[in-house]
Amino acid sequence: MSHFYPEIHIERVHEAIRRLKNDFLSEWVPLEAVFAVTPEPVPFAERKSLKYSPIKEGEFWGKTWDCGWFHVKGRVPAEWSGSPVVLKLNLAGELLIYNCDGDPLVGLSSGSIYSPDYNKELFRIFDKCKGGEELEYWLESGSNGLFGVTRPRDPAYVEDPEQIHGYYSSSVVKMRVCRLEDDVWHLCHDLDVVINLVEALPEGSARRMQVLRQCSRALDLLESEGAAATRRALRPIFELPTDPATVDVYGVGHAHIDTAWLWPVRETIRKCGRTFASQINLLERYPEYLFGASQAQLYAFTKSHYPTLYAKIKKAVAAGRWEIQGGMWVEADCNLISGESMVRQLLYGKNFFKQEFGVDVKNLWLPDVFGYSANLPQILSKAGVDYFLTQKLSWNRYNKFPHNTFIWRGIDGSEVLAHFPPTDTYNCEVMPAELRKNEWNNREAGLVQEAISLFGVGNGGGGPKEDHIERGLRLANLNGAPRFHFGFAQTTLEKMSAYADDLGRWQGELYFEYHRGTLTTQAAIKRWNRRAEEALRAAEMVCATATMVEYPAADFDEMWKLVLMNQFHDIIPGSSINRVNVEAVEDLQAVVKRCKELTDKAATGLLSAAEGALTLFNPSTTDYVGMIQLPEGWEGAAGDAITAQQREGSGTVVGVTVPGQTFVTIKREDGAECAAECVAEGPYVLDNGEMRYTFDANLRLISAYDIEASREVIDSKTPANCLGLYHDYPHKYDAWEIDEYYRNMRAGEAVVEGCVKRIEGAARCGLKATLRLGLSVLQQTIWLEAGSKRIDFVTEADWGERHKMLRVAFPTTIVAPQAKFEIQYGYVERATHDNTKWQYGQFEVVGQRWADLSERDYGVALLNDSKYGYRIKEGLLELTLLRAPTEPDPVADLGRHQFTYSLLPHCGDFADSEVLANAAVLNQGLVQSVNRAANGVCVPLRVEGDGLELAVIKASEAGGSLVVRVVELRGLATRGRLILQDSSKRLVETDLLEWSDGAQSEMATLEVDFKPFEIKTWKVV
Ligand SMILES: [Zn+2]
Repeated sequence: MSHFYPEIHIERVHEAIRRLKNDFLSEWVPLEAVFAVTPEPVPFAERKSLKYSPIKEGEFWGKTWDCGWFHVKGRVPAEWSGSPVVLKLNLAGELLIYNCDGDPLVGLSSGSIYSPDYNKELFRIFDKCKGGEELEYWLESGSNGLFGVTRPRDPAYVEDPEQIHGYYSSSVVKMRVCRLEDDVWHLCHDLDVVINLVEALPEGSARRMQVLRQCSRALDLLESEGAAATRRALRPIFELPTDPATVDVYGVGHAHIDTAWLWPVRETIRKCGRTFASQINLLERYPEYLFGASQAQLYAFTKSHYPTLYAKIKKAVAAGRWEIQGGMWVEADCNLISGESMVRQLLYGKNFFKQEFGVDVKNLWLPDVFGYSANLPQILSKAGVDYFLTQKLSWNRYNKFPHNTFIWRGIDGSEVLAHFPPTDTYNCEVMPAELRKNEWNNREAGLVQEAISLFGVGNGGGGPKEDHIERGLRLANLNGAPRFHFGFAQTTLEKMSAYADDLGRWQGELYFEYHRGTLTTQAAIKRWNRRAEEALRAAEMVCATATMVEYPAADFDEMWKLVLMNQFHDIIPGSSINRVNVEAVEDLQAVVKRCKELTDKAATGLLSAAEGALTLFNPSTTDYVGMIQLPEGWEGAAGDAITAQQREGSGTVVGVTVPGQTFVTIKREDGAECAAECVAEGPYVLDNGEMRYTFDANLRLISAYDIEASREVIDSKTPANCLGLYHDYPHKYDAWEIDEYYRNMRAGEAVVEGCVKRIEGAARCGLKATLRLGLSVLQQTIWLEAGSKRIDFVTEADWGERHKMLRVAFPTTIVAPQAKFEIQYGYVERATHDNTKWQYGQFEVVGQRWADLSERDYGVALLNDSKYGYRIKEGLLELTLLRAPTEPDPVADLGRHQFTYSLLPHCGDFADSEVLANAAVLNQGLVQSVNRAANGVCVPLRVEGDGLELAVIKASEAGGSLVVRVVELRGLATRGRLILQDSSKRLVETDLLEWSDGAQSEMATLEVDFKPFEIKTWKVV
């Protein structure tokens, strides 16, 4: 060949691969099968109780989410003796193959229309059969694909109003025993790697031409001399070693199994069985291969549902073949969960791995989470986690993150080493082109010798296939590609720590410039998660105060794990299908209910019986100054704690002051005066002598005048409490995204329907009205309490929108370049301007219970009881209240919602203000015990010190002692005092996991210095 046209030869190789992939199964015989179908899974042990019918290829077996058991039998033909044999099984769904003893062997899947390569239908049963072997297996199957069922946005979906949540139909596509031609199969893998290398190498490179010419010469032999000879001719390509200067890529085999997403949790349990069985099979077949998996929850599922498989996993971990990755209970969302939830994710995750596997997991593994809290470095450091891995910020829409390997520093100055794999994916295919990104897309190339690549089929589970491993073996030392090693994340991260002194630093949050809608979508999950977090805190405190002997540790264990599971990065963000969302709310409501039962039970032991008494416990450290609703039938109360009271309709509210972490008893004493309720005339004014709030005819706030400070808070140009509706059509990922262009798509504004009512009493005054906007109705009651500057907007919504977003806006007169937003046990500051692309990208940001915009001596906070999506630009404070995406849940957020947001003008800046105390009033509230009196009962530890919060009192994980956690929340160095009630007790400082203890205090009172945002934990001994 004197002339050589590369394009023709490249096409020739692709064509050969297409042909060979049809040729490596040369002969087949059918399997015989019977099957039975149920709507929900039936365990292996109970499968024989089902009624079975015969079935063969082409026949239907299951509809949407059905579960099938198949019993299959066959025989290897005698004439195949010496050949490799595979089962080819495709039930148009997913399946797990068992032997007759009930051992799960391997999982198969028909894959997804979105990722045809994720299909897996072969199971190698013999490398060399004798011929004549009798075959018998059981198949546990699911009538769903790797990514759930066919839903309205899928290309194949046929419009059907009865099946808006999707449908699925499974038939037996293939059920065969096949003879495999090993040389052809291996040649396919050789050619896959070779042609991908050719296409990845620069056009002018000699290596590219060398490889292509050699490949073409080898293919000349295919028809005449066969696959084995062709492979031999390819060998010189694989014998030229890698460039010594290239990067060492450690390929970490893993399966990203979403704990729920386009399938319910019950299917995730089965995905664990399928995925982990396949990986054990691959570890047995390939001695070089290593696998790893995160999420303690998935191991716990496997332990209870697949015990024999779990035993094999334990062995693989002990043998150094299987890595436990990521210290959390699940791969949790890191925007929406509280500080204590973040601690418990690590505490429950790491304790599980320690107890079950004897492994101390020292890395956090969150490849797919939507942004990372600025307090995560501290929480990780104090939980013994030194390394952090994600790739998600490669999805940023505006800014490319400037590092791949760097030191991440949190709000308190804690540091961890972070690695963002340069391949920008957690589903690597192990191909040369992709691995070369570790050179050209690696900001630390030339400094850091190592990079991590996460490979395997993911999201719906599965993990690496033998194809990935075969390619990895070929890429161990192939010139033109980086050196590929099968590796573990932890050992590679430890290697990277050698460069720590030379690495760049990133301070603060790892904001994700994407998926901002997940701060709001599925409001009910977010609301009940917050209620569950508070209920657990209060219940632990009351139970720990009441009795350490009967402390309900098992209940708390179970409840926390349920809450932690629902904090998974597709559940709490609201990005799952309808069934997942419904089940999450049910789980969280059950936790709140159970916490109340435990609190009531503990209070019964702790408090003495007293007819007509009401004991109030304030679990927060700040004083509770606010209203409570008296028990049904009470028409008043008396006690030192009471500041005012009034009857409203059939109920009575009283204003109380309850100091932090204190039990206070009031008693029933009828006689509260009725608040006056009448139809109001505009303009509507609420004035308590401290603040004068003025509203227009649509209850928009046109003035908030601080009488004490002689200051107008609302910008006179635009009214506040403006409930604006926006069209909300993100450019993609409906449930996930809010795009900035929504601001140009205003769709209306709430207007009052009917009259505005005014309520006037000694305890509080209010305005009440029905507002209508679009297809929705809002009932809003606006309360101003005596002695408070805070104004509460108590809202009930009947939400009927699709593709709309509801926001409330407060334009203020505050001038400040930074605003503060609450995060886990602290806050972050973000710019209120768009000077840079990074600041522009933050047009919707997370705040937990509050956000604050302050000048040096005056500020305004916008608080909420269940929302997370904020925007503060210039003087304008906004909160996103509701969304209405239709994918993946077509009925997302339709129906009734309750939420409260509050405006709190304050003198001084944030640190001088009562923002934290008001956030606690609005969220944590008080625990009430009727017909019980406190009689001097107090919590075991009191904390003194500005800005310090006694976040937790609970029994230690090991039992037997109390654990207390104190956090500094103002971002200021503070000296505090911890005072134990029992003077014979002492404090021992410990870590977040309660693993390693420090010195014991000399006295029952301890003076202690806190750094800004410091989290400290002690055992009481
Ligand atoms: Zn995920």
